[in-house]
Amino acid sequence: MSIIVQKFGGTSVATLERMKSVQKKVMAARAKGYKVLVVLSAMAGETNRLLALANEWSANPDPAETDVLVATGEQCSIALFAMLLKDSGVKARSLLAHQIPIYTDDSYGRARIHGIESGTLENLFNHYDVLVAAGFQGKDHKGRITTLGRGGSDTSAVALASALGSVECEIYTDVEGVYTTDPNMCKDARKISHISYDEMLEMASMGAKVLEIRSVEFAKKYDVPVHVRSTFSDNVGTLVTKENKIMEHVLVSSIAYDKDQARVTLRSVPDTPGVAAKIFSPLADAGIVVDMIVQNPSRDGVTDMTFTTPRKDIKKTIAIAEDICKKLGGNAELTYDLNVAKVSAIGVGMRNHSGVAAIAFAALQKENINIMMISTSEIKISILIEEKYIELAVRTLHDMFIGTADKIVCDETNYN
Ligand code: ADP
Ligand code: ASP
Ligand code: MG
Repeated sequence: MSIIVQKFGGTSVATLERMKSVQKKVMAARAKGYKVLVVLSAMAGETNRLLALANEWSANPDPAETDVLVATGEQCSIALFAMLLKDSGVKARSLLAHQIPIYTDDSYGRARIHGIESGTLENLFNHYDVLVAAGFQGKDHKGRITTLGRGGSDTSAVALASALGSVECEIYTDVEGVYTTDPNMCKDARKISHISYDEMLEMASMGAKVLEIRSVEFAKKYDVPVHVRSTFSDNVGTLVTKENKIMEHVLVSSIAYDKDQARVTLRSVPDTPGVAAKIFSPLADAGIVVDMIVQNPSRDGVTDMTFTTPRKDIKKTIAIAEDICKKLGGNAELTYDLNVAKVSAIGVGMRNHSGVAAIAFAALQKENINIMMISTSEIKISILIEEKYIELAVRTLHDMFIGTADKIVCDETNYN
């Protein structure tokens, strides 16, 4: 039995008409002889609506109950889609994560997958041609419902594809694949035919929400080829796969941006051993992801420590940072800025080439964009700027490194 996993995002299941496009994709896979495991997201906007409801009802929504609430978004999608298939005579049924089960830890709102009982699905495929599973959700060891974090249906799909030995995991969305930058932000963005897991990981972690980061981690770890493509066209999309020589020819393959950023500074903290640990340990314990970190040179025994964190975590971050300042004593004080955004240039070719950072800085200077913070990895450079310049910065760096001509070397001939 050959199984294929197809995941459809929120915009693809937002209306009955769009679900009919989803149905066409599923039927096309059936026509090729596959048993199909469909993984669905909640209808576009539904998860936000449910989260807003939780915050309206409760000043401090209980995390476990919030997961019970937001998981209903995916439950609606799978039931409606299974009805549609059955009405067309397809042998299909829906499945919630706890019916499979997909086991996770108990970090409500950001649970991690521990295991999947793939046998349940394999047995059901003896009776059904299409199984429609809820993305984004799982079940912890106490039997409680969990959710995997925003965009988590991508992770559900890749994990299920790996558990079932699916030929590839198809991620259907509202764009035709992974582009050199967000096609909804920059009209010159071009579709990439192949991208390595590592580049995709950097893109996802730098804000390109076309794939959720943990889905790429999963795909890389278990070697699952991921095909990102459009629900609304038949064109080939982007294959996320192992790195090859052709990819190394490309210096910068994409520009990503992230507006969900805040900059936090702890001023006048003692410049003594252990202070960084005192600042960052409580943040890590609270599950706050800290990205860029800069420590200023010491002056009279004190220093300033600046870091960035997701804007959505700022309330929690401030509460913890205020407590840290109190504990550090002296003149330690806290400031923060929410009008910041991060732009990143990514490419495996950077491993063997220097000078990318200097070119990026010069391009931004030409547009009079001030650089607030910088961080680099082997295949990425990230720059923090004022949020109002983010579109200009994305276009400027895209134009500089990628442009409209064929600066990207990609081979589309061996893939269909
Ligand atoms: P879905 O609901 O299908 O999961 P998402 O909204 O999570 O879809 O992701 C698709 C969106 O990702 C696109 O509409 C696009 O605006 C955005 N995006 C950001 N960066 C990129 C990129 N480099 N390539 C393609 N899409 C991107
Ligand atoms: N519905 C969830 C969200 O909006 C998960 C997903 O769509 O992948 O984040
Ligand atoms: Mg998504």
